[in-house]
Amino acid sequence: MASSFDPDWDLATLAIRTGHRRTNEGEHAEPIFPTSSFVFGSAAEAAARFSGEVAGNIYSRFTNPTVRIFEERLAALEGGACAVATASGMAAIMAVCLGLLKQGDHLVSSRAIFGTTTILFERYLRRFGVEVSYVPLADLAAWEAAIRPNTRLLFAETPSNPLTELGDIRALASLAHAHDSLLVIDNAFCTPVLQRPLALGADLVVHSATKYLDGQGRCMGGAVVGDRKLVGEEIYGVLRTTGPSLSPFNAWVFLKGLETLDLRMRAHSDNALALARWLEAHPRVRTVHHPGLESHPQHALAAAQQRAGGGIVSFVVEGGREAAWRVIDATRMLSITANLGDAKTTITHPATTTHGRLNDEQKAEAGIDEGLIRVAVGLEHLDDIQADLARGLD
Ligand SMILES: *Cc1c(COP(=O)(O)O)cnc(C)c1O
Repeated sequence: MASSFDPDWDLATLAIRTGHRRTNEGEHAEPIFPTSSFVFGSAAEAAARFSGEVAGNIYSRFTNPTVRIFEERLAALEGGACAVATASGMAAIMAVCLGLLKQGDHLVSSRAIFGTTTILFERYLRRFGVEVSYVPLADLAAWEAAIRPNTRLLFAETPSNPLTELGDIRALASLAHAHDSLLVIDNAFCTPVLQRPLALGADLVVHSATKYLDGQGRCMGGAVVGDRKLVGEEIYGVLRTTGPSLSPFNAWVFLKGLETLDLRMRAHSDNALALARWLEAHPRVRTVHHPGLESHPQHALAAAQQRAGGGIVSFVVEGGREAAWRVIDATRMLSITANLGDAKTTITHPATTTHGRLNDEQKAEAGIDEGLIRVAVGLEHLDDIQADLARGLD
């Protein structure tokens, strides 16, 4: 039976309805197919599937029906022709690198990216002869200056973590294409509900589904979205060969997550903006970062590029590390953990955790103040989140 899909549907509808081909059991919820291999009707059918002459399942490292529903649904949400799912967000980024880069190539990346992505680039890509340069996300002239004749990829995460700086996706895409390069956007923070990089000209979107796509901190997963050639052939080819495939159970959890993604992302953003405004008015708080605030230096770009500001708020308290730790330790409800994209609000001290490996000079350059606190605002009632932070602030 044909999958239900109407390109005119709103995102909220696509997120609930796309991809499920109901089986002859008439199930309403999407089925989970926990099977490693698939059976053929005859030797001739097996031969036809293996040769690629006839499409169909062979082995779950290649394709799995539950995983495919997730891929089709996410592709529809991002407005891409093709998505491939991976075992984690890092597997998605690795597959992009292995699929599109070779020895002697050069990659330009924004500096403030997920810590493990930096390790992937620095420790492993370099070992295979790929050069990497880092630039400040918002500085277009720096991006342009970093491009070399052998540059193949521009990689950016926007908004950045934890300071919520923005990269202008449309401008970065033009820059990439003017230099025969591709633009890759890590869209884990916004999800397609708040930002659709492909529509702004990006070539590829990568996701950590572990974050907001799941939304309740349960499963690891990731995905790459783009066109059929890059994603469906080159990146998929890497994945089916190297093996970080998504489990059907995790795909099913993400499908349930996607059904509420539209509602959740708006609620995360509303809660975060209200909390940011409250923090901005607090006498013990020096600065607050959230793209929805009028005081955000790129507020206009955020309004043009994103549907809302997202769930991450960071702020600097007066009194440095001691004061920041006091605020964190005074909380009773917020979870002290670096994870994000959960219904549960989390709180971290970047200078001693996610950015703890940087030396003082690097921290200063990256804007990681000792008084900086990051909150990934969840879906609890705003009053309760505020009351928990007020304990240490007042
Ligand atoms: C978490 C995260 C990743 C890595 O994803 P995993 O699922 O943990 O492998 C990549 N990029 C961003 C922005 C993330 O937040």
